[in-house]
Amino acid sequence: MFNSIRTRLTLWYLLVFGSLLVGFSTYIDSSLSSDLRKQYDASLLRTARATATYFSEFVERKNVAQGARETILEMKLEKLSAAIFQDHQLLAASSDDITTAIVSARLLPAAQQGQAPTFATDSKMNERLVVLPFQAEGGDFTVALLGSLDELGGQIGRIRSIILFGLPAALLLAAAGGFLVARKSLEPVTTISEQAERIGAKNLHERLTVSNPNDEIGRLAGIFNAVLARLDTSFRVMREFMADASHELRTPLAIVQGEADVTLSREKTVDEYKQSLTIVRRQAKRMARIVSDMLSLARADAGEQHLRLEELYLNDLVEDCCHAAQALADPKGVRLTWEAGEDISFRGDEELLKRMAVNLLDNAIHYTQPGGAVNVKLTREQSLARLIISDTGIGIPPECVGRVFDRFYRVDKSRARAGGGSGLGLSIVRLAAESHHGSVDVVSKPGQGSTFTVCLPLQVY
Ligand code: ADP
Repeated sequence: MFNSIRTRLTLWYLLVFGSLLVGFSTYIDSSLSSDLRKQYDASLLRTARATATYFSEFVERKNVAQGARETILEMKLEKLSAAIFQDHQLLAASSDDITTAIVSARLLPAAQQGQAPTFATDSKMNERLVVLPFQAEGGDFTVALLGSLDELGGQIGRIRSIILFGLPAALLLAAAGGFLVARKSLEPVTTISEQAERIGAKNLHERLTVSNPNDEIGRLAGIFNAVLARLDTSFRVMREFMADASHELRTPLAIVQGEADVTLSREKTVDEYKQSLTIVRRQAKRMARIVSDMLSLARADAGEQHLRLEELYLNDLVEDCCHAAQALADPKGVRLTWEAGEDISFRGDEELLKRMAVNLLDNAIHYTQPGGAVNVKLTREQSLARLIISDTGIGIPPECVGRVFDRFYRVDKSRARAGGGSGLGLSIVRLAAESHHGSVDVVSKPGQGSTFTVCLPLQVY
């Protein structure tokens, strides 16, 4: 039950609201009670002063004893008991209660020491007593008034009962309101969880519905949708990669199997066996290359690619590759030229950089007709080495230029496969360039040729 945010929110809301309400009610109760008591004291004192003034007129007329009795009668002191004293001697009292109260409170001697009114409470009888000393015609007098606190107690009691009954009711309403508000605010979360639960590897294309993209939950759903989109793309790329990989390996495997079946079906001459084994070896090489390329790309994807960095000269590396490529260009009748004069010192992974150059050269020669030319140029520009391999070959259609670096992508699948290409060559070129913090680009015109440019920043490591 406490695992639900809705319940926890409601409880927190109740706790905060309840504490505030209890604090506020306590404050209201104590301040109202004290105000009412002060008001009661003030009215008691006002009446005592009026009584004293009234009685003083009798004193002026030297009619003290009679005046005291008349004052008490004429004041018509409703619900109040009154008594008048002269020098501690009782002149007149409206009831015995007041004299008893004055005696038990022992206020009279204390009151007459000063001229300030004195108050006392008789908690047993629930009464309030005020004793007011005053002087008239040189004599010391005291007026005492005793009032019941029942009415005041009733007023305070009413306030308390309002608080006592109102507080739980307010808390109950607050709890219900808090619960409803929490439920309403968390409704999108429930909807999103239900939708998210239904999304699996098979329906990764589905998205969460976002009612308000600007609120917190909407933003969360947006982020979740973006993650789903990325996952969807990764899954799709992975699926395509797997499908393409198995497709690529199926052809050489079929050739190897077919060749083995035919060879084993009958006795053959040594030359025929050699021929078969040559075919098997070529296909095994092709498979090894595909697997090695796939492994490099998969490692790079997983962030596990480790470059074996060493000091080398890029011009030497390019020249070596060109020399090796000559063996491919000459039989085909393609003129291969290169310019890699100046020493360009570089820190990089020699093997990977060689694969990059070889793949670019292989492609350039492969996609150039006999009689065509391939030119290789390596230059140094401030902090950059630029390798340009251009050919006068068949070129790449504009709509395919953006995709040639994709894995297993071929412009013309049947032709490339016949020539042994796996569609991974340029992916490795891009991987090599990027893992050395560089880039690779292509400009091509169908029928006129292509130019691949690799830029490698010097002094990165
Ligand atoms: P492949 O092993 O098929 O050559 P790559 O990844 O090396 O795979 O190249 C992808 C595709 O780009 C090739 O199939 C080819 O269609 C095109 N391509 C690459 N280099 C050239 C080039 N120099 N001239 C024309 N097309 C090229």
